[in-house]
Amino acid sequence: MPTPILLTPGPLTTSAATRDAMLRDWGSWDAEFNRLTASVCADLVEIAQGGDAYVCVPMQGSGTFAVEAALGTLVPRDGVVLVPDNGAYCARILKILDRLGIDAIALPFGEDAAVAPAAIEAAFAREPRITHVALVHLETSAGILNPLDDIAAICRRHGKRLIVDAMSSFGALPIALDGSGIDALVSASGKCLESVPGMGFVLVRRDALDEAEGRSPSLALDLYDQYAYLRKTGQWRFTPPTHVVAALRTALDQFIAEGGRPARGARYVENCRTLVESMRALGFVPFLDASVQAPVIVTFHAPADPAYDFKRFYDEVKDAGFILYPGKLTQLETFRVGCIGAIDADDVRRAVAAIARAVEALGIKVRRG
Ligand SMILES: *Cc1c(COP(=O)(O)O)cnc(C)c1O
Repeated sequence: MPTPILLTPGPLTTSAATRDAMLRDWGSWDAEFNRLTASVCADLVEIAQGGDAYVCVPMQGSGTFAVEAALGTLVPRDGVVLVPDNGAYCARILKILDRLGIDAIALPFGEDAAVAPAAIEAAFAREPRITHVALVHLETSAGILNPLDDIAAICRRHGKRLIVDAMSSFGALPIALDGSGIDALVSASGKCLESVPGMGFVLVRRDALDEAEGRSPSLALDLYDQYAYLRKTGQWRFTPPTHVVAALRTALDQFIAEGGRPARGARYVENCRTLVESMRALGFVPFLDASVQAPVIVTFHAPADPAYDFKRFYDEVKDAGFILYPGKLTQLETFRVGCIGAIDADDVRRAVAAIARAVEALGIKVRRG
């Protein structure tokens, strides 16, 4: 069986070189592995344009572990967090804050609408007790891009702390931390950096981290302790995901060779454009307006035809070597196709050709009406 093309927003399609990098073992105490960790962290700060003001704290686990670590370590127990909510990952932040016993105020938007900066400013006026904002940069549920720079500027102006879940945007969309006022930005190995899943990381302002000693209610998810130990010893506090770190090092080498963030972003834009155009030609309609669609994952309306069943459609496309992603909207029947990973526009064209064959084989009438 050849490895399938994953049209999913993580885990995603990795290159052969990235997978090969996992074929040797590393001692976690070894100086060579410590250098690997240090070089990965240094590159991540540089990609985010963090300068000297920001440090990288790596965290074992999937992206959510790093989000929970950031919120639990950086927000004081008596903090109040505003959470603009336009999808499932925003809802997950609200759930984490609830578990942490931290006051949160949800600011709801439609699943097809970007977060409006003016509504955030209005919430600050209404609720002066707000201390922090927790923003999802790219809501992967529908694929919406939220206006990070405008929201960061408002937070700066009002003296509110900002924590950003940039899980599915980091590495592909422009983000400049230095001077942004952002306290922390969270992402992970297995999204736009095109490595395997298993390591999250938090790019955090040094002085925000320094204030956070002893604050985390969790041992394993204490970012302060994780960083203090790393700085003192060069080692991870608990067993590191060694093979994942090695794969990420190799994926970052390819990221740099490709031309860094601008080149990665441009390839995804081309993938997304190709996807939307060729799916439209089959009659599929994207859920989002082009003005809020990020070039990372596209949500399509499911065909209204009763012959359509996601599981059968999925299996048919999978047999051709492509993995689709179910929808994640609360009201509408949709499915999603990712544009990220070690794939190009030709792979996207082949995937859409497989979708066309599946539609034909299952006798689905795609065009609405
Ligand atoms: C992928 C993702 C996460 C992390 O999800 P995990 O299942 O823990 O990897 C968090 N936020 C966003 C926006 C994501 O896309």
